Amino acid sequence: MSRILVVGSVNMDLAMTTDRLPALGETAAARGFACHPGGKGANQAVAAARLGAQVAMLGCVGDDAFGRELRAHLQAQGVDASRLRMADAPTGVASIAVCGGDNAILVAPGANHCLRPEHLGAEASAFAAADAVLVQLEIPLETAARAAELAERHGKPLLLNPAPAQALPPELLRRVVLLLPNEHELHAALGSPGEDWRELLARHPGRVLMTRGRDGAYFCEASGRLRHLPGHVVQAVDSTGAGDAFCGALAAFLPLGLEEAARRANAAAALSVTRPGAQSGMPSLAELDAFLS
Ligand code: ADP
Repeated sequence: MSRILVVGSVNMDLAMTTDRLPALGETAAARGFACHPGGKGANQAVAAARLGAQVAMLGCVGDDAFGRELRAHLQAQGVDASRLRMADAPTGVASIAVCGGDNAILVAPGANHCLRPEHLGAEASAFAAADAVLVQLEIPLETAARAAELAERHGKPLLLNPAPAQALPPELLRRVVLLLPNEHELHAALGSPGEDWRELLARHPGRVLMTRGRDGAYFCEASGRLRHLPGHVVQAVDSTGAGDAFCGALAAFLPLGLEEAARRANAAAALSVTRPGAQSGMPSLAELDAFLS
């Protein structure tokens, strides 16, 4: 069982279904409402824990009802949430309008942006206890950079999902053992908007595993050979959290080697898109084994 430390965001997703988005200044009635635990960090932590990994999470919630609910939810999913901090800011929320097959999302990071670099310094034992450290970018960039520094100091591989898409400072990129972007994030992270993704992967052999929706994932071996790890054909219902399912699964299975971990991560992410919700769609180990057999 691999031990993973996730440093990242915890949000409550407030999703409303509507036939059309209201115009500015207008009030419209939604058709439905649902409240789901979310945040890329928490999603990936739950994905890995469901697959049998031992997961601890470093993050920040507010001293409010959402914060308490999300902490309890993480614990119930088998994630060690005892190191979650409580900030003097509201718990992060994402307001999601689901309209037809599309959605419009407003995120208020709230407490997630209160996770500061200095807070990580006090968590040396969490870094020491992990086999790998998994980070996303819904927390301040300087906190992600500090997590990378601590991972390096403790000799633990840093897996970075550079989402939401943004350019990475060189001192952070230098410490990333494995970058896990989708195609859009790959271009933003490496700062090469016009360049072909194959060329970008070739410039970072052995260090970048890029996801590409139903097509699966790609990486360039240290030898320079481009490898395609095909996705699975499934009836997609909700692709929210597909990337999170992939990253959590990849971290959980990394001890099996990158290729086998990516094969299983493709399967876990494919299963997740067949179900509604991000965290609620994450498969268990038994479900993954059944799917792959
Ligand atoms: P993100 O959700 O971050 O945009 P992707 O769209 O690249 O990331 O999806 C991540 C992974 O989820 C893919 O590599 C693939 O394994 C799986 N996946 C996503 N969409 C589908 C789909 N429609 N059918 C099967 N697998 C999918």
